[in-house]
Amino acid sequence: MAGSYDEWMKEVRAAFGSLDMPMADWHEIGAFDYRSEYDSGVKPNDAALKANRQWWQEWNQSLQQDCRKTRGCWLPRGHQGQCERFSESKA
Ligand SMILES: [Zn+2]
Repeated sequence: MAGSYDEWMKEVRAAFGSLDMPMADWHEIGAFDYRSEYDSGVKPNDAALKANRQWWQEWNQSLQQDCRKTRGCWLPRGHQGQCERFSESKA
């Protein structure tokens, strides 16, 4: 793995710019465990995607609109297609 954790985080933040998520909510993503993603060699883009999905799952949950078909599915209730769990790789 090239680069330091700081550089890695910079790339993660950059990746957030291309995701469908209001930047004002960036700080709430701080609950995500970036360090362990970095330690396991996850690419910045993948870590950003994962954090984004976790954020959406928590957001949907707070609105009581989270998908109940699969535990950990980050898509909103009544979504089309298959369920997608944000923590797939950790399970
Ligand atoms: Zn689902």
